[in-house]
Amino acid sequence: MPAITPVFDGHNDTLLRLHLSKSADPVGDFLNGGAGGHIDLPRAIEGGLRAGLFAIFIPSPGKPADVDEIMSRPTYDAPLPERCAQEAALGHTLAMAAILFRIEAASNGKVKVCRTAAEIAATAAAGNLAAVLHIEGAEAIDPDFNALDVLYRAGLRSLGPVWSRPNIFGHGVPFRFPSTPDTGPGLTDLGRELVRRCNALGIAFDLSHITERGFWDTAGLSTAPLVASHSNAHAVTPHARNLTDEQLAAIGETKGIAGLNYATAFLRPDGQMRPDTPFEMMLRHIDHMVDKAGIDSVGLGSDFDGAMVPADLGDARGLPKLVEAMRAHGYSGEEIDKLCFGNWLRVLGETWNG
Ligand SMILES: [Zn+2]
Repeated sequence: MPAITPVFDGHNDTLLRLHLSKSADPVGDFLNGGAGGHIDLPRAIEGGLRAGLFAIFIPSPGKPADVDEIMSRPTYDAPLPERCAQEAALGHTLAMAAILFRIEAASNGKVKVCRTAAEIAATAAAGNLAAVLHIEGAEAIDPDFNALDVLYRAGLRSLGPVWSRPNIFGHGVPFRFPSTPDTGPGLTDLGRELVRRCNALGIAFDLSHITERGFWDTAGLSTAPLVASHSNAHAVTPHARNLTDEQLAAIGETKGIAGLNYATAFLRPDGQMRPDTPFEMMLRHIDHMVDKAGIDSVGLGSDFDGAMVPADLGDARGLPKLVEAMRAHGYSGEEIDKLCFGNWLRVLGETWNG
């Protein structure tokens, strides 16, 4: 029985799940497990999940559309939610960051909020869980960047300027299939300033969800490796959320990273959110992403706790099955170590030190 393969996961929505849960003890739910979802500490340890970007996502105001239901149709174009107000977004952000810091404090050293690559490596090597604080959609950041500077000092090390709804920094793609990712405008002037500030502080700038124009705006401006934490290959699944071959090549040229998203609508060639999605569809995306971006620029970005993932995978305990599928498909041990952990660690280390 080979040792379990450590996994660095580029995207989960576990903090959102805990934040929205009606539980009186979300910290205990995470540390002890048994409260549903895809990730908690016992399942992370069992599945080899040793590090990950823990996203803060701001719930949209108003009644949300049932995106999973819409995406189970043969074709779709889900309406974009309304914009979020900054003050409300900052309140949600502090609440979710506080959950993560309380988990760390109560974990007896089993969970560490990491700010350097060395901390991640040491935490994972000890068999514990390294958490990186990430924002998905920068609605909490004000135009004077006060919140950015304070959140950086609290531990923020990765940021996606937009989720799919528009904000003062830029425009995201809708949940639309089939569709090109070239669906609208890119970064605003404030969005360009956000790129510069993230580069200067050492915060990864995540291009998942942004329009293709926003991607190229960033590519022309950023000094850091290009990152798309949870996006797949458009050539395999022509969804607006996936990356074209040109985008994948640009990520490879900067020695950046694209993380495989397990959400079935982004994996299946028919674009549908369905649990009966075999590992073979994940492998097809990995193969194409490696072909276009290179073996050093592909990683994992599960979307656990934020999307419907293949039933065969289940939750974080299923990660060894994905690793085994990669091995059976012909990836070497060295390649698997890069895809599952090493590439993310290298990219973040270079981004944070640069
Ligand atoms: Zn997302």
